[in-house]
Amino acid sequence: MTTPARDETIVVALAGNPNSGKTTLFNSLTGARQHVGNYPGVTVERKEGHTEFEQHHLDIVDLPGTYSLTPYSLEELVARNFVVEERPDVVVDVVDATNLERNLYLATQFIELNVPVIIVLNMIDMAEAQGLRIDAELLGQLLGVKIIPMVATTGFGKQELLEAVVDVAARHARPTATIHFGNELEPHIAGLTEALDLSTLDDKMGISPRWLAIKLLEDDAEVVADLTERVPDPQPLLTKVARVRQHVEEILGEDAEIAIGDRRYGFIAGACRRAVTTVKSKRIDVTDVIDDIVTNRIVGIPIFLLLMWLMFEMVFKLGDPPMGWIETGFEALGDVVSAAMPPGELRSLIVDGIIGGVGGVLVFVPNILLLFLAIAFIEDTGYMARAAFVVDKLMHKIGLHGKSFIPMLIGFGCTVPAVMACRTIDDEKNRLTTILVTPLMSCSARLPVYLLLTGAFFPAAVAGKVIFAIYILGVLLAALMALIFRKSLFPGDTTPFVMELPPYRMPTLRGLLVHMWERTWMYVKKAGTVILVASVIIWALLTHPTPPAQLTAGASEEQAASDAAAYSYAGRFSKALEPVIRPLGFDWKIGTALFAGFAAKEIVVSTLGTVYSLGDTDEEDDSLRAALVSDPQFDPLVALTLMVFVLIYVPCLAVVAVVKKETNSWKWPAFLIAYTTGLAWIVSFILYQGGRLLGF
Ligand code: GDP
Ligand code: MG
Repeated sequence: MTTPARDETIVVALAGNPNSGKTTLFNSLTGARQHVGNYPGVTVERKEGHTEFEQHHLDIVDLPGTYSLTPYSLEELVARNFVVEERPDVVVDVVDATNLERNLYLATQFIELNVPVIIVLNMIDMAEAQGLRIDAELLGQLLGVKIIPMVATTGFGKQELLEAVVDVAARHARPTATIHFGNELEPHIAGLTEALDLSTLDDKMGISPRWLAIKLLEDDAEVVADLTERVPDPQPLLTKVARVRQHVEEILGEDAEIAIGDRRYGFIAGACRRAVTTVKSKRIDVTDVIDDIVTNRIVGIPIFLLLMWLMFEMVFKLGDPPMGWIETGFEALGDVVSAAMPPGELRSLIVDGIIGGVGGVLVFVPNILLLFLAIAFIEDTGYMARAAFVVDKLMHKIGLHGKSFIPMLIGFGCTVPAVMACRTIDDEKNRLTTILVTPLMSCSARLPVYLLLTGAFFPAAVAGKVIFAIYILGVLLAALMALIFRKSLFPGDTTPFVMELPPYRMPTLRGLLVHMWERTWMYVKKAGTVILVASVIIWALLTHPTPPAQLTAGASEEQAASDAAAYSYAGRFSKALEPVIRPLGFDWKIGTALFAGFAAKEIVVSTLGTVYSLGDTDEEDDSLRAALVSDPQFDPLVALTLMVFVLIYVPCLAVVAVVKKETNSWKWPAFLIAYTTGLAWIVSFILYQGGRLLGF
């Protein structure tokens, strides 16, 4: 252990809520060696004293009592300015252990500010008398801060405190935890952090830009005034802040400062739920009552599974009718265009390529919309954080942490934001593992494939159950792979951290609609861009070159179309590939669709749409489902195997790109592509061959 040079003064600031015992501690530490003055310019009492400890000279300042660092009162302003501007070597935050959650609010702000801080768990005698058992060691690990249990009136813990002060001062030990403000606020905080002109601010203020960004979002008058003075042209920044604040208020239905405060309390609640046990409980609070049920050891997981099941039921039951309408609409459109145009290349491009491809994907917008609505709802109410809490123990079994669960849940919607949400995982091993397994959570782009295939090959009564089983398979594989990766690629323990439990809130309708719409719009945009282009390319590859006339002479119309597709570039390529996928029950048509699905998984559907609408001559029922059923290659087992393959094999290009960005290397995206495709082949092989052996 390094120690500060002897005779060097260590400046210690005592901070804490009023009546937490600061003055008692101050007196106990300094004895008679103290003097009282005023802070410059204000009539707030400034008490200073000193003491010697192991030949170190400690200068101790008793700050006025404060509840937070947002200066609502003169006392808070003085305390905050002292910490922010005079930069004591160590801040000792005196916390009343009998009122832990409320008192720790101030501590969260020292954590955000990232100054060297020690938490004194004072009045531990009274806390114990009240039946509170606080695991100070665990709480300290969770908050990333050293915690000393104390009784200031008797001097219990004083020796440990002084040792800790010298140690923290020597190491400049800063809090290691980060408080995350949730998926709505974090991107704005990141944006503001970037927008702050770091080069001019950092050296002048010596404060983390993230803290400044949070304070700006909170509309902290002091920080706003400070920046106005220090930034050469502050107006664009302040305008941006105002815009973000207004946006946040519209989405969350409350002021940004309230939302931020809620997240701080959520952080504390999450930590205390793990580190504090009450022998006899006293408070009654709605959030606590609900949490006692939904985070209950026994019923917590069944409740979670029930809610997930309800979510999928809703997505499929409510989404089905509008899906049918859109399907009918596109069929009618195809018929109208077919009737209006002369036969030929252009008609084929529009009807088979574009309407067949893009239409096949847009049909699923109602389901996607509902899925995102459900995800936004569980996220915005605060339930998602509880789900993570509930599965924490289970997640530890696979070497992960409950926090990894949130990206995985978001992965049901889209893997891209899910991989980005892994940023909230502070532990690098956990973060990488989570990034690698999250693509196994079935994203909404895979849903169209399932809906198409179950719709075609399974009775309506079991279709939903089949899809649910596919999702569960994805979850189980993610768990298995996480276990393998944590054992082989990233061995070793990880640091514990807090899972925030923000209070429940009723999400605003506007917030839900905006979140739902933003994500659905991305899906629609993808259909209009990537998928449109891919559909045209795939159509071209499937229709060129045209086979010589003698080859198809005499064949039925349907046979001729199929021969022509087989003769095309895509057909030849997929035929060459066929031996690899034959053991999975797939033919070259499916191979073409799977290959095209590298770009985006919906393209599997649009490609099947193109392949089959090219060969389709049946005028009565020209839906893709009907076309699949009439293909002898397909049966329920092939359909199931195809769904499983699509679930597991390579994530789309957008995911590969975001993994590259988040891991800052090509190694992980390359590994991701390789392992998912290998795993897809193995699992599909077992399923298909096993199924055939059993006689399906
Ligand atoms: P301040 O407002 O933070 O300066 O708090 P004080 O030091 O004035 O303490 C407030 C009250 O709590 C006083 O009556 C103290 O005697 C009492 N107190 C302080 N520390 C302890 C402790 O560890 N245990 C108990 N039981 N009482 C304490
Ligand atoms: Mg006092």
